This record gives sequence, C-alpha cells and structure tokens, in this order.
Amino acid sequence: MKRRAFLRRVFGLVVFLSVLVLSCARGRQPAVPADLILEKGAIYTVAEAQPWAESVAIAGGKIIYVGDRSGAARFRAANTKVVDLAGKMVLPGFHDSHAHPVTGGVELGQCNLNDLNTKEEIFAAVRRYAAEHPEKIWVQGGGWALPVFPEANPTKEELDRLVPDRPAYLNAADGHSAWVNSRALEMAGITAKTPDPKGGHIEREARTGQPSGTLRESAQGLVSKLIPETTAEEYLAGLEAALALANRFGITSIQEADADEKILDTYAELDRRGSLTARVLASIYVDPEKGLDQIPGLVLTREKYKGRYLRAEDAKIYMDGVIESHTAALLEPYLDRPGDRGTPLVEAERMNRLATAIDKAGFQIHIHAIGDRAIRMSLDAIEAAQKENGPRDARHHIAHLELIDPSDIPRFGDLGVVANFQPLWAYPDLYITKLTEPILGPERSRWLYPIGSVVRNGGMIAGGSDWSVSSMNPLDAIQVAVTRRALEDAAGAAWLPDELVDLPTMIAAYTINGAYLSHQEKITGSIEAGKAADLIVLERNLFEIPASEIHKVKVVLTLLDGKEISGTLPKGTDQD
Ligand SMILES: [Zn+2]
Repeated sequence: MKRRAFLRRVFGLVVFLSVLVLSCARGRQPAVPADLILEKGAIYTVAEAQPWAESVAIAGGKIIYVGDRSGAARFRAANTKVVDLAGKMVLPGFHDSHAHPVTGGVELGQCNLNDLNTKEEIFAAVRRYAAEHPEKIWVQGGGWALPVFPEANPTKEELDRLVPDRPAYLNAADGHSAWVNSRALEMAGITAKTPDPKGGHIEREARTGQPSGTLRESAQGLVSKLIPETTAEEYLAGLEAALALANRFGITSIQEADADEKILDTYAELDRRGSLTARVLASIYVDPEKGLDQIPGLVLTREKYKGRYLRAEDAKIYMDGVIESHTAALLEPYLDRPGDRGTPLVEAERMNRLATAIDKAGFQIHIHAIGDRAIRMSLDAIEAAQKENGPRDARHHIAHLELIDPSDIPRFGDLGVVANFQPLWAYPDLYITKLTEPILGPERSRWLYPIGSVVRNGGMIAGGSDWSVSSMNPLDAIQVAVTRRALEDAAGAAWLPDELVDLPTMIAAYTINGAYLSHQEKITGSIEAGKAADLIVLERNLFEIPASEIHKVKVVLTLLDGKEISGTLPKGTDQD
C-alpha cells in the first residue's frame, strides 16, 4: 500500500515535469511537428465523435490532429507545409470493395467498347483500334453493350468489315458473350457441324446453321483459348494503369475480387517496387469442384502474399451467373422460361461444407451471388459455418445482391454478413428495363438492389465498382444510390424509392465500412488522430450541391499514408 502510494507520487511528479517541459516548448517547436497542415477546409471525418473539422495535421504519414485551425497551429513548425483549402471538402480515401484492377487494367490497353450506346460508335471504335494497332496479331477487347444489337447478337459479317485481316475477339460488357469474326471462327474450326459445348451456346444463322458470330458462356472458350496468354509485363502495365485511375477517383483501398497466382504476383511485384498505390485485400479464387482438398493450398497462398500493402485473406466463391442471360439462380422460374430457375454453380450441401472449412481456416468469405436463390444459399452456408465453428470476427460478405428475397433481408444484420453492393447498377437502364424486369415480373422486380431495406434492417453495406464491368468512380455509385436515377437525370422520380439511402450512409459505405470489411478500420476509413493519412480533397462539398451533380465533382488530391499519389498539393505557405 505504502509502496504504491510512493510510486504514484513519483509518477505524478514525472507527469507534472513533462507537462511543464512541453508547455515551455510550445510556441517554439511542438512536441510532434506536422509535415503538413490542411486548413480552412470542410473536413467530413466519418467519425461519430467529431463529424466535421476545419483542419487536419499530418506527420510521418499519420494524422496527428483533427479539429479547428487554432488547435492545428500548435503542430506548426519551421518545416511544416500549410495549405489553405479555401473551403474544399476533405474525406477519408475511398474503399472500392469489389473490383478487378489487373484484368481491367489489361483491357485498358485493348479495344475498349465500354459506355458506347450505338452500333455506329462501337463500329468506329473497333475500326480505329485496328488501324492504330497493326502490330497486334489479335484484335482483342470488349465492353460492348448487349442491348445495342438485336437479340444481343452482333454478326461476324459486321466484324469482318471492321477487321478483315486478323482474328478478332470482343467480349460483351458482362463478360458472358463474345463477338468474333470469320477468321477467329475458322481458326477455332467452328462450323455448322460443331455442337454446342456443355454450358455454352453458339449463335447460328437460322437458314444455314452456320455460326453467326456470337458465342455464349463456355462457347467463348472455343476461341479465347487460341489467344496468346497475357504476359507478366502486360499484367504489370495493366495494374499500374488501373491504380492511376483508382487514385484519380480518390480510391486508396481496393478489394481485388478474383485473384489467381498470376494476379497476386502482379500485386506483389508492385508492392516490392514501392509502387502499389493502394491497400489491397485480394480474394483468392476458390474452385468448388476441387472441394476441401484445395484449402491447404489457399492457406499457403495467404502466407506467401503478405506485403506492405498487400494481403490475400479473402476466399472468393461464385454461386451463380447473371439474370440477363438466365444464369442467375432464382427461387421461382424466369417468366419467359417455364420451369427454368437457373442453376447454382455450387450445390447447397457442397457449399455449406466448403464455407465451413474455409471459415475454419481463418479466411473471410467473399461470395458472388445475384439471384434470390443464390443469395439465400450463400447466407445459409455462412450460417452453417457459424453453427459449426462458433462465432468469429470473420466479416464474410456477399457481392452484387441484385435480387434479394424480402425474408432474407434481416439475415445480413443477424448473421453479420456485409452486403457488398454495386450501387451504380441500381437505376432503370436498358439492362433493367429490357433484360431484367420482363423476365422477373413486377412483384420480384420490387426487390432489385434493396439497399435501403438492408440498411433499415440492421445490415452493414459496403460499395464496390466491379470495374471494369462498370465505372470505377465511387462518386457515380454514391449518386445513383441517393437518387436511384441515371447519372445524367437531374430530376425525376427515383426507381424503387423505398430503397434510397442518404449521403452519409453512402460515404460510410465507401470509407469506414469498406475499412471494416477489410479489417482495417483501426488504420484507415475515417479522419481521426492516430490513423493513417489516407485522405482525399474534393473540389466541392458533396453536402452543398444537388445530388445530381455529385458525379461531376473532381477529386483534386489523393494521399495514401500522407503521400501524394494523385493530384498535387496546392502551393503552401511555410511557417511565417
Ligand atoms: Zn466482379
């Protein structure tokens, strides 16, 4: 007792003296001098205790102070750079919780047909690419929109006119169909006599039975297997291009949605070079056919790819395909195909066993599920894993979530499964009005992308782009989630207005919730002292503009660990 009292007195004296020393130093040199102070900004911290601030001080890549201007001044020293934000907005760096940066980046160097809305535009883009790249043995690329062509069926004759001299292979935007020319069909030996491969379909001319130029699902492989494999250099260049784009949109953390060893090697190489400009959590592809035997291999892969910014702790399982091509697994049949409700890619028993074993091995499970049946089976599998292994801080998640049966909506909150939405898809474009609603009917279509319902029922939402399937810009997705209208529609009714969410909810989805989903919420995801300085500066305050203008706002600066990875700091004033 005595001894403790004595120690307390000594301790108190030490504290007193330290405070005295620190107070004397103040005014000259702060205890921790800031490298950078951003001041006079609209800083939205995403931290409950202090949602708004005007200044943030950074030292050694970390946030050391958030608050008012005079508070930040205490960290100002001779070498501190001070930047007047002039009211610009600051947010935590964005998290894209589902993207394909390596393969998408490779596509950037190929013939890019994304976001072209007419045949004429698509034809012109193919012709231009072929002319600019005489050195390419194959004309390869993709992104053409299915609704542009009658029955989503472009022809080989159309492509022959654009690329007469070489084989050409162009993926549809959803990746489930390919458009090829006569040269490619000849090389693959596909004729009127070639049967459809299992799980695929060769579109044919009605009169002759000859292949017409579009290949569906596994039939794509008949041609794609002939294309020379992408090299490691092409992967590296692709990832660098994708990261530059991501950083320009303010993204500082990414969940790679589907990684094999080649893709992981690409991340690891950039990480080693110090040029991986985002924190990456990779999802390792799991082949359901290989069953439990592959789990020791997954564990070895996880161990192998631990880097400064790289981790491979997610395991990716595909439960189904997509609604437009009737490959999503539904609880009730497609309206235009009596009796057909799509087939899950993994059978329920096998999925439960697989999920249980992967959970037990300490992985986070990342499931692709689009149809209401696939989503229910995914929730069932996670529930089975929890029952068998006991609760664990796993943070499993399901991505895409296009059609959720209302009875399953509360299960996200109940099971602690994060709903990883691609909110940019949640407005009535041609995919919805022409290819989805007609085959689901109005009753089911009410439950397309039920983001608001998941939030109201206690589920956590995160946001991902699924780039290169759709735009990587988080502000595009945030705008659609808060308007449920096309980006260019300044006014009008929201589609399924009960599913609207507000701006703070969406900013959280792309920041702190993304950080939580990658087990990084103590490091990043909000602007708080002690966290990494992963920050972005936006030219306008998102809370002060009409929602329809959110997608036009530019990110002018992106910092990762306090380092400028996109944009440049405005000229600062140095101390006095
Ligand atoms: Zn994806």
